[in-house]
Amino acid sequence: MSDDSIYQQLRSHLAYLRLGAAAEALPAELEDAAKAKLGHTAFLERLLDIEVAATEERRRASLERFASLPSPWRLDDFDFDAQPTVDRALVNELGTLRFLEDATNVLFIGPPGVGKTMLAVGLGHASVAAGYRTYYTTAADLAARCHRAALEGRWATTMRFFAGPRLLIIDEVGYLPLASEAAAALFQVITQRYLKSSTVLTTNLGIASWGRIFDDPTIAVAMLDRLLHRSVVLNIDGESYRMRAHRARADNLRKAVTTTNT
Ligand code: ADP
Ligand code: MG
Repeated sequence: MSDDSIYQQLRSHLAYLRLGAAAEALPAELEDAAKAKLGHTAFLERLLDIEVAATEERRRASLERFASLPSPWRLDDFDFDAQPTVDRALVNELGTLRFLEDATNVLFIGPPGVGKTMLAVGLGHASVAAGYRTYYTTAADLAARCHRAALEGRWATTMRFFAGPRLLIIDEVGYLPLASEAAAALFQVITQRYLKSSTVLTTNLGIASWGRIFDDPTIAVAMLDRLLHRSVVLNIDGESYRMRAHRARADNLRKAVTTTNT
């Protein structure tokens, strides 16, 4: 076989095996290898390294899409000085994702605007970057989805879906009261993940008020029992970051006005 037809054969092998990145890089890599007098092993390693990198990138992008995180916030973006009630060391420890190993849950509790969603999303991005299947939802969306699933006879599939991710983020528990069906859905999701995989949950309600979210206080107690059994609870009780920004703007305006007036 001529060099040319061996080359064509190699291209078609790579295409058949769907090694697209390697196929695309082949001409340039062959040229470089000839120039650098690379051995067969080194050349093949370089070519497959390109394919491995492309596969990892595709996998990461697909995890990222699946995760449905609502914003690009990272833990590094969090301004700890602005929120002194947040334990920086604890958040950094959570950022190592060791809590995923023993299915520890994380609860962010605090009033609106203190950064609960930001921290939960930051953990989500860290988890995606580490290659874990991650999924973000709000309590309201989870309830709506389970409601539709029940109507359409897809309850079991939907429950399996929420059992799947290594990290499930359920944002905004307690903002809206949950009807008994929705509470039952949330309870089942928490129960089937219990001791298997971690759930990060954010809520504006202190634990003592959880009875209020659910019609049935026994469900609230049973759910808290499972959530808290192995958990990290962060109570964030500073002022709203949004309000802070508004106030800073208002203060600056006021200062500007008073300076021009005097
Ligand atoms: P919550 O979920 O507690 O209501 P969010 O996480 O949505 O609050 O935060 C509200 C807004 O303020 C967001 O734009 C968020 O990025 C910002 N924010 C809140 N806390 C901080 C912080 N400590 N550092 C930087 N941005 C913050
Ligand atoms: Mg929020």
